[in-house]
Amino acid sequence: MTTEQVGVAILGATGSIGRSTLNVIRRHPDRFRVVALTANSRARELARLATEFQPEFVALADGSVSAVSGWDGEWRHGADGLAAAAAADGAEIIVNGLVGVAGLEPTLTALDAGKRVALANKESLVAGGELVLDALRAGSGELIPVDSEHSAVFQCLQGRPSAEIDRLVLTASGGPFRTWPAERFADIRPADALAHPTWSMGDKITIDSATLANKALEVIEGHYLFGLDYGRIDVVVHPASVVHCLLEFRDGSTLAQLGFPSMEVPVCYALFHPGRGADTFERFDPVAASPLVFEPVREADFPMFGLGVAAGRGGGVLPATYNAANEVAVRAFLDGQLDFQGIAHAVEAALGSPPDGPIEDLADVRRVDAEARRTTSDFIARSRGVSAGHAG
Ligand code: NAD
Ligand code: MG
Repeated sequence: MTTEQVGVAILGATGSIGRSTLNVIRRHPDRFRVVALTANSRARELARLATEFQPEFVALADGSVSAVSGWDGEWRHGADGLAAAAAADGAEIIVNGLVGVAGLEPTLTALDAGKRVALANKESLVAGGELVLDALRAGSGELIPVDSEHSAVFQCLQGRPSAEIDRLVLTASGGPFRTWPAERFADIRPADALAHPTWSMGDKITIDSATLANKALEVIEGHYLFGLDYGRIDVVVHPASVVHCLLEFRDGSTLAQLGFPSMEVPVCYALFHPGRGADTFERFDPVAASPLVFEPVREADFPMFGLGVAAGRGGGVLPATYNAANEVAVRAFLDGQLDFQGIAHAVEAALGSPPDGPIEDLADVRRVDAEARRTTSDFIARSRGVSAGHAG
């Protein structure tokens, strides 16, 4: 171990973002040292990573493991292990690659402990944006976006105040159904929705990309990260995913950040910020990428987009409600209990009778999240009952 090494803890090490992060660290062993790794349930993969990266400890949320050959660090279990990784003494950077609202508490823990959070877990900001901003204001923690579009904005912004931005245009791939007529949406199966045209990602975000919920989550994420009113955030469909954002300044100048799609690029940027590490990514080729195509979002055909942006604009409990309902509906879709268009119906039902009360602390978010999950599950169970009744 050299003194210049920066300690990194990776939450969700076995996932898509976790793997991208470990790939970057493999190429920069002199610069980064893995301090802690966490996973939900893939114990064997976590054990293999422990042998390779020699962290101080690993944490498994669910399940248990026996000894690992070639590594004598510590195994931790349950939620405490995740919290320990988020605040690990030897880690200056916490990469949050968890999926879903489960990422919120570790984000807050890491910020409270004064860490740099390299944040992929957008659901943290959607469900608890105000709490994350409070934690940033209260302590010495730092938030660096890893979501590719937000990393792009962050890189174009170069620390300038958001008051200088007139408009942020987030790009969306449009997902696998971009060119499908809406009449065919009733036939969509999980395997169709999991076949993303440009990005290889975890199942949940892949379905979110197919419904365009992902882009609504990203609008809310952008609102909190960059302090922009919703009226100043637009979305365009850009099928090739090479232009990651367009940032229009008040003098009329527009900056863009480009590159062939790879999450390792924004991960690398978040780890090295404010510097840039030399790396071997495929270089951008403007001729190969030509022509650059942009299209409007088909809002009427992809209602999850408008529902999410409206929830963001409405504020209060609505973003957390939207997020929770979406998590439940996506799970039900993947499990074959809800059809593709049913995702929006279930989320709309949850937003139609949202939980009461303000969101002032983590307990409030948990309560809203739990209530919205119940409402959504009830809706799905009722709609299944109705269709079963029709079938009978
Ligand atoms: P993934 O499903 O591939 O990985 C999720 C990781 O979190 C796994 O290691 C899993 O073990 C762990 N995990 C899941 N639930 C957990 C729980 N309740 N407690 C503890 N650990 C848990 O997901 P992903 O595609 O890597 O996405 C992670 C986050 O990054 C999401 O918020 C996603 O929206 C965001 N993101 C992903 C990409 C991408 O390319 N994959 C791009 C942009 C943003
Ligand atoms: Mg993104």
